[in-house]
Amino acid sequence: MKRYGSLRWILLAAGVIAILGITGMNVYSLYALHENAIESDRENKKLQIAEFTDKIRYRFFKQFYGLSSTDIKRLQDHFQETGQFTKDITKLLNKAATDSMYKNIYFIPSGSDACQQRDPILEYEPTDDQFRPDANYTEVVCDGMGIARTQMKSLISDYRYNNKVIFDSHRSLTIVLVNPSAHSIFGYLIMPFNQDFLRNSFLPRKLAEKFGTPEQSGLNVWLRDWTNNEIIASSDTSLTYDREKIQFEQNFPDFFDYWKMEVAFTNKSTVATSNASLVKNLVILGAAMLLLLGALVFLFISAQKERALAERQTDFLANVTHELKTPLSVMQAAGENLADGRVQDENRLKNYGTHIYNEAVRLRKMIDKLLDVAKANAGQSLIEPKPVNIRKQVLSYLDEHRTYIENKGFTIDVNIAERIPTVMVDVDSFDTILSNLVENAVKYSDEEKYLGISLQSDEEQVELRVEDHGIGMSGKNMSQIFDKFYRAEDTLTAKTKGHGLGLSIVKNLVELNRGTIEVQSEPGEGSLFIVQFPALDESKEPSSGEDTVPSEIRSESLKEESEYVS
Ligand code: ADP
Repeated sequence: MKRYGSLRWILLAAGVIAILGITGMNVYSLYALHENAIESDRENKKLQIAEFTDKIRYRFFKQFYGLSSTDIKRLQDHFQETGQFTKDITKLLNKAATDSMYKNIYFIPSGSDACQQRDPILEYEPTDDQFRPDANYTEVVCDGMGIARTQMKSLISDYRYNNKVIFDSHRSLTIVLVNPSAHSIFGYLIMPFNQDFLRNSFLPRKLAEKFGTPEQSGLNVWLRDWTNNEIIASSDTSLTYDREKIQFEQNFPDFFDYWKMEVAFTNKSTVATSNASLVKNLVILGAAMLLLLGALVFLFISAQKERALAERQTDFLANVTHELKTPLSVMQAAGENLADGRVQDENRLKNYGTHIYNEAVRLRKMIDKLLDVAKANAGQSLIEPKPVNIRKQVLSYLDEHRTYIENKGFTIDVNIAERIPTVMVDVDSFDTILSNLVENAVKYSDEEKYLGISLQSDEEQVELRVEDHGIGMSGKNMSQIFDKFYRAEDTLTAKTKGHGLGLSIVKNLVELNRGTIEVQSEPGEGSLFIVQFPALDESKEPSSGEDTVPSEIRSESLKEESEYVS
């Protein structure tokens, strides 16, 4: 069995290391997950910003969807004939003209050099759907057309669509009307933006709608004109712009060239949620690992205890066999001599008789003890508690044993109160408890032979103290002396007869009788055993002396190993 001792320690260490390793890995993964959650939340927010710029772009295109199905050749012919656009196109223009986004709608036919000469160009009038010459246009119109014209120069040779939308940053939108089969340009529809609406109404509203307060979105978003270093709008007007805090920038695709979305992640809600789940996971992990560690240590300790118990049982078996054999051999030899009739001398006859008697008493005591343990193990310790005046019990025990103890050289110090309340105990149990404690005090005293017996009480408890100035015991021993078969490893104990059963029986009986037992001891100083039983409230005590607790209480403890002692 010893051979497995070190293996057990190695396995325990391996188990603990494995648990710590798993815990470490899990903590690491939880932190990694936490970081990932924050990172993926950021990525997700970047996507939202990109989506936002796309959506704004879509806002400008969607109004002219019908345009792609228009026959530009036919439109061109119609315009050359009437100086006006066909109905289906004017319908689209009418819609755009009533949109607060655009100031006016101008048309410059491709061949015109209106802008160079400051000649009038055509302006659309939504009230009668007519184009009229206008000389009051701003340079934004000419800039828009100039940009569109330059871009189309390189595209027109293989352009396959009938229109192209071109932005002059945030200033104007130009729709180039193209005749794809002839690879020629019919003209330019130029729509300068209403700057006031765009900057002060449309964009702030859209930003607030999409991103709201930083608490809701986890973002601070500013729209910044980087050429003029000017903040145009922000997702939350209460925010102050700080260039240092910007973590991400997003351009508008192919429009608003000088403008940028600038973003600072606040992440408050994500961090808080992720933190909360991190803490929750860490707590659960910690609890699970502690439980696992606890279970492992518990299993280890109980295996160690089982081993110690098994070792003690083996020792006990060897001892008990020896102890049973010795008195039997003495009795057998003495009986043989008597049966032979060889001994006639009266003194020798008496001597043999005394021998046989003493050995028989020793044998009986031992068998009684074994039976007590066997009964306790089987849960059959029958006790009959009744109100007992234990003062009388202690005094009568002393009367009976005082001479024997004093003959062994002991000074007996008795301190028994005049009046002790009755207690509800089983008389036989009490006697066994007292005699075991006194016998131990006698057995485990060598130089200073002192026996102190005290019986005191208060209103609640009756307290029996058995004290000696003997060999005492260490703390480690104190915690185990009530275990079955446990004997301290010191020379006097080794020399003294015993099987480590007395105190386990005492504890079992004390608990069955609803008492408590404790020990105080110092090696070399002596020991003090304190037993307490609840005092009976005599005013409530039944006059007939009837039991107030069930008359039979069976021990449920000490059940294990019953097969061994029984
Ligand atoms: P036993 O006396 O038969 O060995 P017990 O169960 O009565 O068995 O006691 C268990 C052990 O406790 C003893 O072997 C002894 O080491 C220790 N012990 C008990 N009583 C005393 C005492 N009064 N002083 C010192 N050691 C004691």
